[in-house]
Amino acid sequence: MTEASTPLPMPTTRTSDHLERAWSPDAVHILGKPTGAICNLGCSYCFFLDKEQLYEGDRFRMSDEMLDTYIRSLIEMHRVPQVTVAWQGGEPTLMGLDFYRRSIELEEKYRKPGMSFLNTMQTNGTLLNDEWCEFFAENDFLIGISIDGPRELHDAYRVNKRGEGTFDKVMEGLRLLQKHEVEYNILTTVNHINGDYPLEVYRFLRDDAGTDWMQFIPVVERVDEHGNPADLRGFHASERSVGAEQFGSFLITVFDEWVRHDVGSVFVQTFEAAARNWAGMDQSGMCVFNETCGLGLALEHNGDLYSCDHFVDPEFLIGNINEASIDALVSGKQQYDFGQDKRASLPQYCLDCDVRFACHGECPKNRFITTPDGEPGLNYLCAGFKDFFHHIDRPMKTMIDLMRRGQPAAGVMDMFAAEEQRFRDSLQEAGRNGPCPCGSGRKVKLCHGAPQSHPGGPPLPDELGLPRPPVTDRGKRAAERRTVSPPG
Ligand code: SF4
Ligand code: SF4
Repeated sequence: MTEASTPLPMPTTRTSDHLERAWSPDAVHILGKPTGAICNLGCSYCFFLDKEQLYEGDRFRMSDEMLDTYIRSLIEMHRVPQVTVAWQGGEPTLMGLDFYRRSIELEEKYRKPGMSFLNTMQTNGTLLNDEWCEFFAENDFLIGISIDGPRELHDAYRVNKRGEGTFDKVMEGLRLLQKHEVEYNILTTVNHINGDYPLEVYRFLRDDAGTDWMQFIPVVERVDEHGNPADLRGFHASERSVGAEQFGSFLITVFDEWVRHDVGSVFVQTFEAAARNWAGMDQSGMCVFNETCGLGLALEHNGDLYSCDHFVDPEFLIGNINEASIDALVSGKQQYDFGQDKRASLPQYCLDCDVRFACHGECPKNRFITTPDGEPGLNYLCAGFKDFFHHIDRPMKTMIDLMRRGQPAAGVMDMFAAEEQRFRDSLQEAGRNGPCPCGSGRKVKLCHGAPQSHPGGPPLPDELGLPRPPVTDRGKRAAERRTVSPPG
């Protein structure tokens, strides 16, 4: 695969008929950005920082009037009983607590009979205190907190405006969420650095951070040929971006740990989405792995509604909610076409791909390289996805088969344990100088009997290489489980 200066693969041009009704979705997921791109941190890879230029001179604060319009219009468009009100940024806590108290009041004001709300917020966690967490707990917020791994990996890019690491502040925020029993999950962006440490990242999140729900988002920053940020018009990946094979290897290593120890007890969003696609379900639960998209939009502080959080760009502005209802904007031809283009713009290479049912070309934002035969519009991460989806085929089929027979998918862990025990037995039988039972043709001592190399990537810096005692009860239980389970 080569990178090339090809045209943007799926431009959606706004025309006068862009609001002509093309579909009628019952629900929508809108990421509200009440502070626009404004954030108290300065994470080096943040794709949203340069969006400040879109609204130059603006205060970047959603007004009370806009909040009222938004909540009313959002509720009006829903024809299902649950409405998700999702807040993101920039850093949404910069709005202050009173803004979200008003949002809850407005939900009550405009609530339709039988309607309930899921309030969510994605935060860097650094501004959380007891008052915030009490509010979240009282109102059943689901909080996403961004942590990129243990200190050295997290602080590589997640820094404040002075360039200082934010690990301690974020962990303080996480502990407050846990103290107040707020429902939360952890979002980890996988970049060029932590991408080499999948096991360290995963075990840290599971055992030290104490989470059983995590999502891994690849950092893919598009830049021009000089390395300057170029967003949707860049056809190269920045050096901070995770590599395609690197991301595939990251997912494979985490999957191998998960499928041996944590099926049923740790939720990894990418693996759950894959399982749904392997089971042939309509929706994977992750827009990027669905055939089409278009129901995950982004609302700027001033009411501008964009096709997607990753397409906050004048070309993908659908309209302003002061001028048209959310229902009209979402149901219009422009947004419909945007979502359908995810499938329609796939290159032939993807159409012929044996794992398309699981990948679907991932997100159009990342489709900026060319296929081996020169067709534009291939996903930059393609090589990694191919590796990953091929690797998980057998365990996925096993888990789906177990569930179809009414058994828990966690039974796959017993299957691996039994296989590995058999393999260890045959290693013993072969002896150090016998042929390795893996079929490599080498002697055991030079193959699977050789001293183990580091399983998850290159050796870590000293601090990370040292064993860390788990800090949570859940972490202690997980550590105990690992010591009684056969090694992966
Ligand atoms: S453009 Fe990408 S992130 Fe946005 S909704 Fe479609 S698949 Fe999801
Ligand atoms: S793995 Fe590659 S070729 Fe296959 S669908 Fe995904 S991006 Fe396309």
